[in-house]
Amino acid sequence: MTRMAAEETLAKLLEGNQRFIKGVMHHPRQDPRHRQKVSAAQAPLAVVVGCSDSRTSPEIIFDAGLGDLFVVRSAGCSIDRIGIESVALPLQLFRIPLIIVLGHEKCGAIQTAMSPPADNFVFLRESLRPAIETSAHLPGDSEENACVMQVYRTIQSLTTSPILSPLLTEIKSSIVGAFYQMQSGIVDILPASKY
Ligand SMILES: [Zn+2]
Repeated sequence: MTRMAAEETLAKLLEGNQRFIKGVMHHPRQDPRHRQKVSAAQAPLAVVVGCSDSRTSPEIIFDAGLGDLFVVRSAGCSIDRIGIESVALPLQLFRIPLIIVLGHEKCGAIQTAMSPPADNFVFLRESLRPAIETSAHLPGDSEENACVMQVYRTIQSLTTSPILSPLLTEIKSSIVGAFYQMQSGIVDILPASKY
């Protein structure tokens, strides 16, 4: 894969996001003929690591089709070992050039992790606590800062994974962080390092 493959894929997905923002979706590759085609073999364009929030479905917000995105979701866009292998698997099988880690505003998982009582959702809290703590000193909205920080921490978990790291090097896949604004529908690509 080349950097161009990742850039072209990202541009294509952002074009789909523009259609979604404007309400002029194409709903591409969702017809019965395409369904039959991808039932034989899949060739996803990108892996998306995102939040389980019902308002953040990647196929919808990127106006993508069946078989376009290999999606790994969990509450708070957190990632564990199963999540990491769920990213590594499609990379190995399909040599995917692009991984998008997609956070979003008003994340219920982050809100829960920032609120008492602390005796429920123990694993989720544990997973999200570093992002909340390391963003606590930042100016601006603490909740949004934690959501963005969680994207960066998930990227770090992926790039430093002993399973994934060699694959990323071999395939030359790019990982980008992105942030979804629910009301406008806009997906912003985050700078490589914001903090
Ligand atoms: Zn969320």
